[in-house]
Amino acid sequence: MHVIDGRETPSADGRSFEVRNPATGALVERVAEGGATEIARAVDAAQRAFDDGRWSRIAVRERYRVLNRLAQMLEDALPSLSLLESTCTGRPLREMRAQLSRLPEFYRYFAALARTAEDTITPFEGPYLSYVRRVPLGVIGQITPWNHPLLILTKKLAPALAAGNTVVVKPSEHTPLTTLQLAKMALEAGVPPGVFNVVTGFGGEAGRALASHPGLAKLDLTGGTETGRIVAQTAGANLVRVNCELGGKAPVIVLPDADLEKAAAGAIFAAFIATGQTCIAGARILVHESQAQDLIERMVARAVSLRLGDPLLAQTQLGPLISERQLQRTEEYVAIGKREGAEVQCGGRRATKGVLGKGFFYEPTVFADVRSSMRIAQDEIFGPVTCVLTYKDLDEAVRIANDIPFGLGASIWTSDAAKGMRLSERLNCGVVWINDHHRIDPSLPWGGTKDSGMGRECGIEGYREYTQTKSIVVNLEEPVDWYATTETLRLS
Ligand code: NAD
Repeated sequence: MHVIDGRETPSADGRSFEVRNPATGALVERVAEGGATEIARAVDAAQRAFDDGRWSRIAVRERYRVLNRLAQMLEDALPSLSLLESTCTGRPLREMRAQLSRLPEFYRYFAALARTAEDTITPFEGPYLSYVRRVPLGVIGQITPWNHPLLILTKKLAPALAAGNTVVVKPSEHTPLTTLQLAKMALEAGVPPGVFNVVTGFGGEAGRALASHPGLAKLDLTGGTETGRIVAQTAGANLVRVNCELGGKAPVIVLPDADLEKAAAGAIFAAFIATGQTCIAGARILVHESQAQDLIERMVARAVSLRLGDPLLAQTQLGPLISERQLQRTEEYVAIGKREGAEVQCGGRRATKGVLGKGFFYEPTVFADVRSSMRIAQDEIFGPVTCVLTYKDLDEAVRIANDIPFGLGASIWTSDAAKGMRLSERLNCGVVWINDHHRIDPSLPWGGTKDSGMGRECGIEGYREYTQTKSIVVNLEEPVDWYATTETLRLS
C-alpha cells in the first residue's frame, strides 16, 4: 500500500503489481499500483503539511531530534533492511550490508547541517539591516531507481527533510518495499503525517504524473539519461526546478607507474560491483599500450574467479541482473561488441549452471581491442561488461577518457598522487577518485556533467539545493514619505 498523509492507502482502483526476486523469479510481494489519482492525493497531503508548518516551521532542533531518532531506528533495522534490499535488487547481501550501513550518517549529517546553518547579513547600503535566510522550497517530488534503492532515496530525502520540505517519493517499480518501510519508520520516529509520502507504481504512469504535477517546488530524479530528458522537460514546462542524476560510464585510467595488481583489483571492483549496474561502473579501462596484455591477464584471472550465486549467501560475489530485459540488453551489447571487432577475453554469455538458470545471471565479461568510438565503449550497458582501451601517452588518455557523452565519475590508478591530482583537473566529470572507486560520503557533492545530469546531491551544496534564499530588509529610520517632497531621494 502507498503511504499517503501518514496512512497506508490502497490504490483507488485496487490495482497492484508484483515485486519478484531477480535471483530466483520468486514472488516477494504484491504492491499497490498508483497513478495520477494517488499522486494528486499525495501532493495535496504534502502541500497541506508544508503550509500548516507542522514540519517546515517547527524549531530546527526538533527536526534535528526526529532525524537523529530515524537514524538510530535505521541502524537497528539494518539487518532486516539489507536482507529485503538484497532480495529485491539481487545484489549480494554483503554489498547491501556495506551500503546500508552508511545510511544513518546521512540523516545525522544533514540534520547537523540544518541545526548549525547560519543566516547572513548583507552589506546593504543606508540605514538598513538586511539579512538573508535559507528557507525550505515546498513540496518535493523524488523519483528513484532500483540499483541502490535506499541509498539514493536517502541522498535526496535526508537533506529535503532536514531543510523543512515535504516529500512525495515514487520508488522504482522493481524495488519499492524498503522505501515503504522507511516511510513507516519515519512516522514512528516522529516525522509528522503528510511530510514523507510514497506512491508505488510504474514510471510511465505514477512517475509521469509526479513529474508533471504543477504543485511541486522541485523534482529530483535519479535514473537513466532518457528518463531524465523526459522528466526535465515535463517539470520544466511547469517551471518546477529539476535535479537529475543520470547515466554514466566511468573511465578507470591506469597510469604507467601504477602497481598493476592493485589496478587490476580496482578495475574489477569498479566494473563488477552490483553486477555492473551502477552509474559509475568502471566500464572503460584505459591502460598504456605497453601494459595492456599484462593488465588484461590480471583482470581476467580475477573476473573468472568471481563467485556467482544466491545473493543471500555470504560467499556470493556477483548477483543476477535486475530483469530479463536487462539481461537481454547485456547480451545484445556483447553481440554488438563482437561485430564491432572487439575480443571477448572472458565471460560473454549467460550463466545458467544449476540454480543460476532460475535468475538473470550473466558472466563477468572483459573486452579487449576496443576503440573509443565503438558502441560498447560509448553506451551505458548497465551489466557486467567492461572494455579495455589503450593509450600511447597522457594526452591520448585524457582524450579517450573525455570522449563520451557522460561525465559522472572516473578513477586514476598511480603510485604518484600528485600526478593523479594534476590529471584529475583535465577530466570532464563530477567525481574523480585516485587509487579508489565507488567511494561516497554525505559531505561529498555528487553529480555529473554532460548527459550524466544536472545539479548536485550531498554536501553543503546538496543541502542548499533543497533551500531557497529569502531576503529581509529592515528600515532602521523613519520611513520616507515619497510623495510628500519633490527632492531627489535615493532609493537605497
Ligand atoms: P529508469 O530511468 O528506468 O527509472 C528510474 C526511475 O524513473 C524509476 O522510478 C522509474 O519508474 C521512473 N521513470 C521511468 N520513466 C519515467 C517517466 N517517463 N516519467 C517519470 N518517471 C519515470 O532507471 P533505472 O533502470 O531504475 O536505473 C538505472 C539508471 O539510473 C542508469 O542509467 C543509472 O546510470 C542511473 N543512475 C544514476 C545515478 C547517479 O547518481 N547519477 C545513480 C544510480 C543510477
